[in-house]
Amino acid sequence: MILRPEAGAGTRAVWAGEENLFSHGATVVPVYQSVLYAHDTVEAWHDAIRQEPRDVYTYARTSSPTCDALERKLAQLDGAERSLSFATGMAAVSSVLLALLKPGDRLVSIKDTYGGTNLVFRDYLPKFGIDVELVDTDDEQSLRAAVKRGCRLLYLESPTNPTLKILDLESCARMAHDVGALVVVDNTVATPINQLPLRNGCDIVLHSATKFLSGHSDVLAGTVSGSSELLRPIARFRGILGTVLSAQSASLVLRSLMTLELRVRRHNENAQAVAEFLAGHRLVEKVFYPGLPSHRGHAVARRQMAGFGGMLSFLPRGGLAASRTLLNTLQLAHLGSSLGSVATLAGLPETTSHAELSPEEFRATGIAANLVRYSAGVENAADLIDDLAQALTAIDS
Ligand SMILES: *Cc1c(COP(=O)(O)O)cnc(C)c1O
Repeated sequence: MILRPEAGAGTRAVWAGEENLFSHGATVVPVYQSVLYAHDTVEAWHDAIRQEPRDVYTYARTSSPTCDALERKLAQLDGAERSLSFATGMAAVSSVLLALLKPGDRLVSIKDTYGGTNLVFRDYLPKFGIDVELVDTDDEQSLRAAVKRGCRLLYLESPTNPTLKILDLESCARMAHDVGALVVVDNTVATPINQLPLRNGCDIVLHSATKFLSGHSDVLAGTVSGSSELLRPIARFRGILGTVLSAQSASLVLRSLMTLELRVRRHNENAQAVAEFLAGHRLVEKVFYPGLPSHRGHAVARRQMAGFGGMLSFLPRGGLAASRTLLNTLQLAHLGSSLGSVATLAGLPETTSHAELSPEEFRATGIAANLVRYSAGVENAADLIDDLAQALTAIDS
């Protein structure tokens, strides 16, 4: 199957990647459960070990056919030369950082990264002699100054989780490349349907595929995309550390990707409708969603995103007690710590994106404790709005 270069994301999500792996006319890639792959001769075996990237397999910790199909599809969706799959989003994050950085290097990032990533920056990278500077997400001048002071890797997230702040990816890529630094973007909240950071000049894009890419809260996975050259040391590191994805999980992600474009369009519509409803409600103090013209990053988001995403956050009036009542009253939302599922999910950041932080560390993030994070599912928008309306009534009484 040769896809036309102009094929849309929905077409690529369905048709790209699996073509080498169908047999007997199957239309779904099998779960290759095999750990080892046998060879006809020792000479063929010898050649297989030295091939990179491999489409002759030797041992599943290095590469395997089901994961390969997933990686080929992802490369097509991210607009990348190559993709790699990982056991979790955090395995993807830590493998990229540890494979690309060495003692004495400096990493610059923002304060609003995902809680787990923030912990890697603060507690683990310094242990390996890597200097880390975290800058206020909304302060591009400080970011530029920090990068200019010396930087090997600029690590970004946009939109951020749960604050929905927007960074100008093109401008960030330029400032990093001016000092010879690499730019890595965690694109989990946007998805490749809404945003393609590699097109904005960034070098590596990663996703927690546990979220929208899988979309059904039934599998943990992570992905990394970029040039073959940049990904080579990361692939090697993955094979040595063993942060690979299982074939079973790869199969689930592959199945989910077939509907990615369809789901993300619905997530976008629902989040926009919910954000507009909340923004007009007297019991809501503030709504954070890049699709609202009042959002500080709206103009940049319009430029670099094809859709504004399925996640928003908001501050109900009445502090933490009101937020708790509202969440406890919602019917059409799991109170659970993830995002990007077909079912709406809601929670407070202290128990979701930043659950790994201590109370003191959480306070230091500056995120309001009563901020409600809302990941709109693929239900009907009218029902989600009715549900929020009744929950808001409950905080009024
Ligand atoms: C969930 C998440 C991660 C971590 O992914 P896991 O699959 O849970 O390891 C990283 N970044 C962002 C933005 C996330 O939301």
